[in-house]
This record gives sequence, C-alpha cells and structure tokens, in this order.
Amino acid sequence: MKSIQTNLITITDSYVKRAQDLLVQYLLSLKSEKFLFEVYKIAGLQPLTNEGYQGWERSNEINFRGHFFGHYMSALALAYHAEKRSPLKDQLIKEMQVAVAGLAQAQENYALNHPESAGYISAFRESALDEVEGKSVLPEDKENVLVPWYNLHKILAGLLDIYKSLKGIKEDTSQLALEVASQFGDYIYHRMMQLPDKKRMLQIEYGGMNDALYHLFELTKKKEHMIAATYFDEDELFEKLANNENILPGRHANTTIPKLIGASKKYQVFQDSELHSFLSDEEKEKRQTYFEAAKNFWEIVVNEHTYCTGGNSQSEHFQEPNSLYYDAEVRKGDCTCETCNTHNMLKLTRNLYFLTKDPKYLDYYERTYINAILASQNPENGMMMYFQPMGAGYNKVYNRPYDEFWCCTGTGVESFAKLADTYYFQENDYVFVNLYFSNEVSLPDHNIHLVQDTDRKKSIATFTTSTMSEEPSKPLYLALKIPTWTDEFELLHNGVLADYELKDGFAYLKRAVGKNETVVIKFAPYLKLVSTKDNPNYVAFEYGPYVLAGGLGTQHIETDNPNGILVRVGTKERLLPDTLMTTTDDWPVHFKDQMQPIEREDKLIAFQVKNVKDNIIFSPYYEMHGERYGIYFNLLEADSKEAQDAISQKEEWLREKERILVELHNFDDNNSEHAKKVDYQVSKVDAFWGRRYRKAFKDGWFSYEFRFQTNDDFYLQLDFHQKDVGKSMELLLNDQEIRTITVQEGPDGEFISQKFLLDNTYLSYEGSMKLTFKSIENETPRVFGITFLKS
Ligand SMILES: [Zn+2]
Repeated sequence: MKSIQTNLITITDSYVKRAQDLLVQYLLSLKSEKFLFEVYKIAGLQPLTNEGYQGWERSNEINFRGHFFGHYMSALALAYHAEKRSPLKDQLIKEMQVAVAGLAQAQENYALNHPESAGYISAFRESALDEVEGKSVLPEDKENVLVPWYNLHKILAGLLDIYKSLKGIKEDTSQLALEVASQFGDYIYHRMMQLPDKKRMLQIEYGGMNDALYHLFELTKKKEHMIAATYFDEDELFEKLANNENILPGRHANTTIPKLIGASKKYQVFQDSELHSFLSDEEKEKRQTYFEAAKNFWEIVVNEHTYCTGGNSQSEHFQEPNSLYYDAEVRKGDCTCETCNTHNMLKLTRNLYFLTKDPKYLDYYERTYINAILASQNPENGMMMYFQPMGAGYNKVYNRPYDEFWCCTGTGVESFAKLADTYYFQENDYVFVNLYFSNEVSLPDHNIHLVQDTDRKKSIATFTTSTMSEEPSKPLYLALKIPTWTDEFELLHNGVLADYELKDGFAYLKRAVGKNETVVIKFAPYLKLVSTKDNPNYVAFEYGPYVLAGGLGTQHIETDNPNGILVRVGTKERLLPDTLMTTTDDWPVHFKDQMQPIEREDKLIAFQVKNVKDNIIFSPYYEMHGERYGIYFNLLEADSKEAQDAISQKEEWLREKERILVELHNFDDNNSEHAKKVDYQVSKVDAFWGRRYRKAFKDGWFSYEFRFQTNDDFYLQLDFHQKDVGKSMELLLNDQEIRTITVQEGPDGEFISQKFLLDNTYLSYEGSMKLTFKSIENETPRVFGITFLKS
C-alpha cells in the first residue's frame, strides 16, 4: 500500500485550500539565502546577506539555529507538490536550489578548512557537538546551541525531502541534495566511530536522527550510514516499551516521539530483503522489538496521555498517565498540547498504519488532523500555535512570522505543506479514501480523474469520475473509510444502493468504477460527551469528527504570556465561564437534547447549549479564531456544593477585580512599564512560571509612578514567587518613607500576595504615587505584580 502523492491531488475544500495557500505565501516570504547566513559563516564563506534570521535562529544568545532552515527545506519540498500554480512552483524550486547549492558550497569549503571533518554542514561550530558528548569546551567555543543534533536532524531531513521532491523534475538539484546528505552521513559515521560514550550524547534531544539516517541508508545503501543510524537507536528505551512499560511520565514528549518514528522506520527499512542482508543475525532477531516498541508507545500515548483533540503533553512533557484534568486545570493549562507532538504523532501513526492496516490509526489521524493541526493555524495570516490550551477561557496565540521561528512553526510549515498526503492510499486496483475533504485527484494508472465533493456541513461525500483521456485503462475500485463517528451510513453507486464488503474499517465497493459514474456516501454523525479519566465531570463535546469549543467572547484577545525561550502562550480570563452549571436533573444523560443545532453563517456547525446558566455557543474548535474559547468545561449541577463553591470563587475574583484601582503585571520594559514611568538601575525583566517579573540586582533599584483616584485609605498588594520567601528589599514610598519588605510564607500555590494598608495621604493631590524598589545587600525578590486596591 502507498499513498497517492499530493502532486496528483488538488484541494478544493475552501478551508483547507486557504490554509495551504497561506502556507505557500509564508514560505515564499522567507529566503534560503538569509537562512544560509550562519552556515556560510561557519564554513568560512562570505554570507550572501547582511544578517541572518532572529528568534530561535539567532546566534548571540541561547538558540536552535539551523532547525528552522531544515524545516523550511522540507516544507518547500512538500509544498512544491501541493501547490498547483506554476509561477509559485517555480519560486519554490528556486528557494530549494539556493538552499541545496548553498549547503553544498558550505560543505566543500568546510572540508577544505577542516579536512578531518569533511562532510560537516551546520549553522554552528562542531564544538556544540563536543559539548553534548561531554568534552570540555572553552568558553569562547561555546555556541549556546541547546540541542545541536535536533537542529542537524532538520537539515538532513530537509535535504532528503528535497532529493525526493525534485527527483525526475530538477535532477541536478535532487542529486546534489542526496550527495550533500550522503557526505554528511559519512561525517556522522566518522564522528560516531570516535564516540566515547553513546549514552551521554543520547541524553540531549536529537530529533529524528535515527529516522533520517535509516532513510539515508535506504537511499545510499552505504553500510556506514546504517551504522551511524544505530548510534541513535535508544535500545534501552525501546526494550522497555516493547515490554509495554509506561516509562513516559516526566519525559519530554517531543524528544521521545521522533525516537519511535525512527524505531518504526528501522523496522520498515529492513523489510526490504537486500537491506535486510546488511543486518547481523542478532540484529535480525531484535528487529521486532522496534516494531513492538513503536506500537506500544503509540497505544500508551493515545490511551493515557491524549486529549480529545489528539494532542498530548503539559509543559512539553508527558505527565502522570490519565492526569489530563489535573494537567489542564491544576498544573498549568496554558501549555498543554505542544503542536509539534501532534505533527510527529501523525508521522508515527502513518508509519504504523502502513505496517499494520489497523483502522484505529486512521481514526486517530483524522481526529488529530482536524482538531490539532488545522486548529493550529491562524486562518487570516497562516501563522501557527505552539501550545494549545484545553481548558476554558483561553485565546489562541500564534507565532510572529520573522523573529521567533519556534519548533512548532517548523513542524507547522511541514504540516500545512502536506495537507492532502493522507487523503488517499492505493493498493492494487483499490483506491482508499481515508479523509473526507473536497478535492480532485488524477489517477494516471487508471486514466481516471476523480472529483470528491464533500459537504462537511451535511456529512455527504460525492465522488464523480471522468476519464483523463481515453477509456479507463484498468478497473478502479473504491474503498471508503467508515469513521467511528457515524452511527450509520448509506452508500450509493450511480444512484442505487451499492454492493460492498466491510473490512478493516473500510467499505470495499464490489463493482469497479468506470467513467462518468457517481458514488455517494452519507454519514450520520452523532454528538458525543467525553471526559477525562481523572475527572468524569471535566467534559468536552464532539460532533462527528469535530471537537467543539464554546465561544467565550473577545476580551483581551491579543494578550499573551512569555514561556520558555522566546515562546508566547495564551492567557486565561478567569472571570469567563469555565463551568457549565446545569439546571436540570440528569443533564449529562440527556446531553444530546440539550445541544440545540443553530445556524451561524461564520461556523460550519453550531450548537446552543440549553439548561445551563451561561449562554454558550459551541462550534468546531479548529475554526475558532479571534475569540476566547473553552474545549473542556467543568460540568456541575447548579445547586450542588461544588457549583456553589465555584460560584463563590468567581464572585470573590469579581469583587477583587472591582477593588482594583490600578495594577501592573506585564513587566515588559516596554509599553506597560513605560506607561507607569519605569526607571531603574542594575535591574532586569524576565519571566518565570508563565508570568513576567522585574527585579534589581545588588546596588540596583527600579521605580514606577501610579495614577489613581480614591478618597479612602487603600491597599498596596505585591506578588512574589514562593521561591523568594525570606528575601528582603527596601520599598520607598514617594521617595520619602522607607519600609523593609520581606517575602513571607503564603498559602499553597506558586505565587504569594502580600498586602499593605496605606493612608490616603500617600496619594498626591493629582492622584499619583511613586514606588521605588531597592536592593538591600543582595538582589531584590522578583516582583510579579503591583496592585493598588480599594480598602
Ligand atoms: Zn514545538
């Protein structure tokens, strides 16, 4: 079985087509020359541009340089086949040519200057690799590259994708890409031969190095490339997974998933008898372990760590099994479901489907494709999300185009460059329809042109055939995926009930499809209430393949919080409803009656929820944009104790909010702070635990001027982090009175608020008050919030 290549498929579904068009537009606004900037510098060549890209591609601070260049190459290679407009295809080719020629030149020059390291191509010096191998590196040789093999994997994969994409189209660029990749493979082999300790290197994220090197070996059949790949096989991990041990809790998800993609790749590559002969008897025996590990891993992730959208992880990590409610609501809901993870899970899923034909993989594929991948793109400008919050009250936050270049933007550009790659598979005379999105596909083997016209609103797919030129050259049979989200289905061939056989999740039509024929399949999607295993009252709704999200308005829609290195995440508006207070008995039992379908012009489908306190409209999460939303809500009976507690908590927050005279939480050294006339010496802003702060170092200080009106005494509230308990500083009120502030233990939780009652005379006649925070002996505690409250 193989997939039908995207060059044969033209997407016509308006939503998906726009997503693809925006991606191509974005790719063409970037330039290979500029990505080559750092690569040329390392190779001792004069860069082609005055500067390189910033964000994660920067070189001056902690960075991931080269990673996005690799993703970019892969995306160009994929987009070339997806895009059908010739002028754009030409531009995509041109960028691939520049990338490959530039890398080839850099490789050659590097080899001249460093003959012992011939083959090396990178945006950073080899010292970054020495460092992950545990060798001592002089301070001036440090590259601040966090995960060098991860970045190099993207470059290698990009070259291989270009090789494949341009094969038979631009043969010279295609062959050159493979040649550069092959020499890079040689370099890796030589480096690995001298590696003192493989385990040490494997502790640092290395992306899909095993996957890419086995792929390279498949193409070159060079034993050295196979041996190089084995160095990235983490056998210890694979053996545990093959024994079905859930060793995932605490592991970095996007480090782990590609390892298993590599394991499944290894199993697949050696199905070929010629390549199989490269293996020793021991290796032949162990082959099954890789397959079992990949299958068990998938099962554990999907069953124990996955939300209804198909996404997994919290703060990039697999947490405890079946702790999804806890992760999304208690731990930290703004960083659930890293989008890279779903991109990579879909890669693994495809591999496993080809190896097993088990339809559960296609079910997961569809769920995730719609609700995690399509959902991650801004439909206005094509930018992409990093984390996808699952709770209620959040906004979607997308990358900026030219100065961030997150990992999820990298996998994102690949995802949106191959949107149709799983639409159809083919085996013998059967074409398998896996996903229902309107498109047209040419089947030259059969001389047939197939048009799929899917009304996703009504869940009806119509297939019509015509011949490409003469009569069909051989019979074509259709097999249509029967999704798990439909109660029943009706299948018509030329207007009459079709004869079919149900097998492995597909309806196999018994009669061949000739020219000018029509096949129609009608589904009956149903509503579903799902919950997390650790809290049956933490619920989400699904309708057919769509996860529904409740729309919660546009309040502070543009805000974001910093997280990790240059990443921004969504914010939660805690006063928005995150609980569905039901006003009838047995609401969950009769939930289907409570979801009233309504027409909304801007939504594919929409439901008004009845018999709950808040008026919330649910519609597909994937198309939710420019609006705060909730996927999971707490479902509570209105008069239950839990509901009362939730209400009082909200009321308490509301009262608190009403008491606020003025506040500062966004310590940005920018608009927010300067609006409060920030001034400082030896002080800095940064972020921790998802919130921004400012602190002053020894001998430093910082100050603000606040303006507000009140005739009464008022409170000053300062927010600290519990790790700063015991730290002190001086607080100057209006440059006159000095108070010593010490961070005191607070109730459970990450942050502590301390309140001080101040006399109304501190407020000037014009309504201003100055605060200065000054270090005493050491640095000040970090200040995460300054709020003036009515007393
Ligand atoms: Zn990511």
